[in-house]
Amino acid sequence: MLEKREFYINGEWVASQGGKDHHVIDPSTEEPCAVITLGTEADANAAVAAAKAAFPGWMSTPVEERIALIEKLIQVYESKGEEMAQAISVEMGAPIDMARTQQVGAGVYHLKNFVKAAKDFQFIKPLGDHAPNDRIIHEAVGVATLITPWNWPMNQVTLKVGAAAVAGCTMILKPSEESPLDAMLFAEMMDEAGFPKGVFNLVNGDGVGVGTVLTGHPDVDMVSFTGSSRAGRLISKNAAETLKRVHLELGGKGANIVFDDADEKAVKRGVLHMMNNTGQSCNAPSRMLVQRGIYDKAVEEAQAVAESVTVGPASAEGRHIGPVVNELQWNKIQDLIQKGIDEGARLIAGGTGRPEGFNKGFYVRPTVFADVNNDMTIAREEIFGPVLSMIPFDTEEEAVQIANDTVYGLTNYVQTQDGGRANRVSQQLRSGMVELNGQSRGAGAPFGGMKQSGNGREGGVWGIEDFLEVKSVSGWAAE
Ligand code: NAD
Repeated sequence: MLEKREFYINGEWVASQGGKDHHVIDPSTEEPCAVITLGTEADANAAVAAAKAAFPGWMSTPVEERIALIEKLIQVYESKGEEMAQAISVEMGAPIDMARTQQVGAGVYHLKNFVKAAKDFQFIKPLGDHAPNDRIIHEAVGVATLITPWNWPMNQVTLKVGAAAVAGCTMILKPSEESPLDAMLFAEMMDEAGFPKGVFNLVNGDGVGVGTVLTGHPDVDMVSFTGSSRAGRLISKNAAETLKRVHLELGGKGANIVFDDADEKAVKRGVLHMMNNTGQSCNAPSRMLVQRGIYDKAVEEAQAVAESVTVGPASAEGRHIGPVVNELQWNKIQDLIQKGIDEGARLIAGGTGRPEGFNKGFYVRPTVFADVNNDMTIAREEIFGPVLSMIPFDTEEEAVQIANDTVYGLTNYVQTQDGGRANRVSQQLRSGMVELNGQSRGAGAPFGGMKQSGNGREGGVWGIEDFLEVKSVSGWAAE
């Protein structure tokens, strides 16, 4: 078994100061695939001290040099893409082809977008013609704690590390204990790229242990967190004691509004999007709202599409979906499917239990419920599994009302060939992102939510700004 017990602190791999072993479980087989260490307060403190010591030097490093290091990191990352794909695939269950393209690809995509955004970013800019001697300086916030989930691990790590590094922050990354291997490989890449010691540090641990120390530490200036709303709440409270800045990227319960004039691929696209990454995406379109005139046809189509989705182990090549990440998630998803049945939704595909042919591994049947109403548990809670809820509606107003009737506000989707309606509805949806007619958002677009989906924005220029303070200076001398 792979032994990965050390942490990356102050430019070196070091042993934990009293941490305990933790087995990383391969969700395809339920067998341990690696052993890591869950760190201690002393480990977290050492990482914070390293980041604090490195901050003045890194903050004053010319931005061109910081960008050059990210460019070097991109080269290293690209040269180790296969190794990264294998790590992600084994620890969180993404099928290997999907891991190679989408999971690993997301990392390089974000890093490249940061380089572009940073090159165009004015770190010192004039206030305006009315105040010629005023300058607005964008300066690094300081030491940042970065806490990431397991579902899109490299996507999250690069969104945080890339932005923090460009901004001039030093950092401590605590990846999810479910998916530490990709993050440890990433730390090796940071080392090979040549980042100065202490700029980037990695400590493994769980939420109650290292997570709590790193989000409450007085020498940490900000926290950037992606994960559940539950943990987001705890982190906010913990960080409040020292009044840190906290950026949160939390869960979602996206609506996908399919109007009766939607293009013919809209339903299929929506179902497949829901099933991608085995439904473990915060921006999953998990509530499909379908206009009454095409509802029966859409239900039939969704059933056929879900039944065509195959399930298989992460190590197998192909376009199947893999297992969900762990037993806890598997049980939670089973309970929610059962709740859907008990509360009277119509099960049209999938259901409880493992798919046929599996008696081991955290595999879930691609599941679709029809005739869901928005008050049912499956329409309100984030399931984080391959489970779609279909809800009929009559009018545009009703669709917007149902879509917005949730505590979340991350991504919503609209399918209609009426451009005026698409634009109008996009403005009425209370979410950080809206995607119209299957078009993905462009490179460098901000990713983030409203309401209980969080408050941060990641990616591109907005992602960098999350790690910057705004300083206002008057009386700036002409040079
Ligand atoms: P989680 O909240 O259980 O864990 C996420 C991370 O937080 C892990 O590293 C964990 O160790 C740490 N953590 C947990 N409790 C903590 C605490 N009290 N203090 C400090 N750290 C703590 O979430 P998860 O199960 O890993 O991920 C799934 C969740 O993440 C879903 O709700 C999903 O919607 C959300 N997510 C959101 C986005 C987004 O950008 N909005 C992206 C991906 C995932």
